[in-house]
Amino acid sequence: MRYLSKAEIMATEARCIYCTALHTTVEHMPPISMFRGRKRPDGLVFAGCAACNNGTGAADLVAGFIARLSPRYDQASWQIEEAKARAGILEAQAPGFLGEFFDPLQRTTEWFPTASGIRRPLTVVRLSGPLTRAYLDVFAAKLGMALYRHHCGHPLPLGGFVMCGAYLNAGLAPDTAKALLSIMPDQSGLRQGRRNHADDQFIYRFNTDGRSVVAALAQFHDGLYVSASAFRTTDPYGQLPLLPNHRRVQPGDLPGMMPYRSRLRAVQRLPLVKRAGPSPS
Ligand SMILES: [Zn+2]
Repeated sequence: MRYLSKAEIMATEARCIYCTALHTTVEHMPPISMFRGRKRPDGLVFAGCAACNNGTGAADLVAGFIARLSPRYDQASWQIEEAKARAGILEAQAPGFLGEFFDPLQRTTEWFPTASGIRRPLTVVRLSGPLTRAYLDVFAAKLGMALYRHHCGHPLPLGGFVMCGAYLNAGLAPDTAKALLSIMPDQSGLRQGRRNHADDQFIYRFNTDGRSVVAALAQFHDGLYVSASAFRTTDPYGQLPLLPNHRRVQPGDLPGMMPYRSRLRAVQRLPLVKRAGPSPS
């Protein structure tokens, strides 16, 4: 499958891939900030409206931060260094998230076996904080709608929906992962030629009929997994069961799913527009 160029996207797309608004921006999914040093191979570039694109930027930041936090990364690794360097911008755009995410009450220590058979303690973070959940739900839904556009050739219709969920490194139960992977025969990522790929930072397995449904499980770095399935119609098989820790999202839902303080900050960052008012008499 060929990726569309940015010019082709702006000229030929009918609307934002996340809602019915006219597209005014180019949306990268996964976002540029997900990649090391913001070096992102081309591809998976879409049409987006400003409200969806800019309005969900904090969700991209949170996902990129969490993806870089894995117990398998050394404290001096570039992943952890990049995560630390983002504390300031995270606090500005996703106020309260860091405090919630690092809340000691959300963590437990569990012992995991290593390759050598020796067990070592790892901190397990529970994804129960409302802010963290909200940001990751938005991010997961965006991925589902983007992959639907990519594999099915048109934006997800208004009557369609995404069933999506996100897991931290240790949170994806092996049984769930196996069940999801078993129905996904194909694998893809972002690749330009043989050498320029970022498979260590983003890769996904998927299944699709190429026109009305796509199911995918994506891995971001070592810290974040996203499961997202997008369906053209509301409920194609009668009553589709909701997978554990998943939710349904429809086109147009995204900006409203963002935490309130994040929405407020996004509005505050918009450039002030001077309007011509009535001239003083
Ligand atoms: Zn939109």
